[in-house]
Amino acid sequence: MNFDSLDKLVKKMGAEIKEWDSGATIEKIDIKPIDFGGKKSIREALSEFQMDDKGILYKDGVPWILYIMAPKDATIDELKNNPKESKNTPRYHITGNCSTIRDMKNRNRYDRYVFTPNIEEKFDVYGYPSRSKWWGKGKPQKVEDVELGVCFNCLKNVDYYLVGKRNPSELRKTFDVGEWFEDNVQEKFIKTRFSPENFPNPEYNEDYYTKSAQLKLRRNWICENCGFTGAPSHKNLIHTDHIDGNSGNNSDSNLRLLCIDCHRYLGQNKSVGRRVDFNKCIELKNLQNKKVFSK
Ligand SMILES: [Zn+2]
Ligand SMILES: [Zn+2]
Repeated sequence: MNFDSLDKLVKKMGAEIKEWDSGATIEKIDIKPIDFGGKKSIREALSEFQMDDKGILYKDGVPWILYIMAPKDATIDELKNNPKESKNTPRYHITGNCSTIRDMKNRNRYDRYVFTPNIEEKFDVYGYPSRSKWWGKGKPQKVEDVELGVCFNCLKNVDYYLVGKRNPSELRKTFDVGEWFEDNVQEKFIKTRFSPENFPNPEYNEDYYTKSAQLKLRRNWICENCGFTGAPSHKNLIHTDHIDGNSGNNSDSNLRLLCIDCHRYLGQNKSVGRRVDFNKCIELKNLQNKKVFSK
């Protein structure tokens, strides 16, 4: 661009040239929609659910819970420390028609809810660094595994037997949603441990080798099925077995120690272990007076 004519004009006027600085720096403002981690909004999801006469929502025979993922006022601190006690943290709902949910629906604020089949009372919730009116709340941040408490109106809805006998905050501390579901929705409760989304990759991984080594150390190379002891000199005859048969599921409850013989028998796999190790195992089991399972 050419400002020659402007410069001439400025000279004619005898104006002094000044550098101008507004004093403000312009930063790129980052606006992103909140990521709900693939969880569906209530409007999207509701048609996929069935509701029983208590108001519990089911999908594929499993009860689902709903909760507000981005509450307006909860601070990160409140979500991390004692979220069941705080007035600003949301409650989770075990029914889709308690008075709180109906009220929200009437106000058209329904879409703040998300669904989850997770019954471990651990939720991902967005919180703010502060609640200051004057300085702003700051950027919302996702806090994981927030232990929210159950909605009192939901408990009333399902006639939870302790309602009326204890105050809400006490109830929240003692209510176990997994246990309650198990006792109250038996015929529909056919919960499988994994969904297609969180099914562990059935590949052996680092986690397995670490946990396997720890387990052997902790349980002293003793077969959990027959009591055979591999320590101290035949530790290789003890294997760490995946109970459900998925070599990628290394949760503590899915791992156990088995001698080669029991591994072959319980794992229904006759090719487990080398022949020489298997023979050694049988020989030592006989010496240790342990039952032999393989034929
Ligand atoms: Zn509720
Ligand atoms: Zn054994």
